[in-house]
Amino acid sequence: MSARAAKRPQIGVLALQGAFLEHEKMLARLGANCRELREKSDLEAPLDGLVLPGGESTTQKKLLTDLGLYEPLREKIAQGLPVLATCAGLILLARNATQDHSPYPSFGTLPVRVRRNAYGRQLGSFSTTGEIKGLGAFPMRFIRAPFIEETAPEVDVLARVDGNIVAVRYQHQIALAFHPELGSDTRLHAAFLSLAAS
Ligand code: GLN
Repeated sequence: MSARAAKRPQIGVLALQGAFLEHEKMLARLGANCRELREKSDLEAPLDGLVLPGGESTTQKKLLTDLGLYEPLREKIAQGLPVLATCAGLILLARNATQDHSPYPSFGTLPVRVRRNAYGRQLGSFSTTGEIKGLGAFPMRFIRAPFIEETAPEVDVLARVDGNIVAVRYQHQIALAFHPELGSDTRLHAAFLSLAAS
């Protein structure tokens, strides 16, 4: 074993709105350092990974543009910064979205078509257990969630619930329709940290 302690990964967590604190707690438990991203100067120090949390994608997109974070973050993701995106974060990454009437841009780095608020009002929020490729059974909490309607062939589908795609990986991007940060199963965050460490 090396005498030097392994470097703690530096993870930027978009902290404009939504469930960002829960991601920070889970990542800290796994040994990462988190930095909240709210303005351009928060992007100056190097990052090993980026979390795009759940919340309200329309609000997040407007704030990203208004605060001048949109372009520098899009560039970092396009250049290969590992990303973990949940729920609204998935909508931010998706190349196309249905039921999204926001005039502000998405990052568009993930070649999928996502449907916002896909479960309608009746089934706004629910919990289930789904199978994740490579991990097995995983608790999944959905809150006014999107699902993925279509992916490019090179996108790896990691999970479906009722036939709908709810988790994918594409290159350095992991995107989930549900909220692992609200539970206690840390395996998806650990998978993201191993991407960030590679
Ligand atoms: N319905 C939200 C949106 O469209 C996403 C919900 C969530 O992130 N839990 O942005």
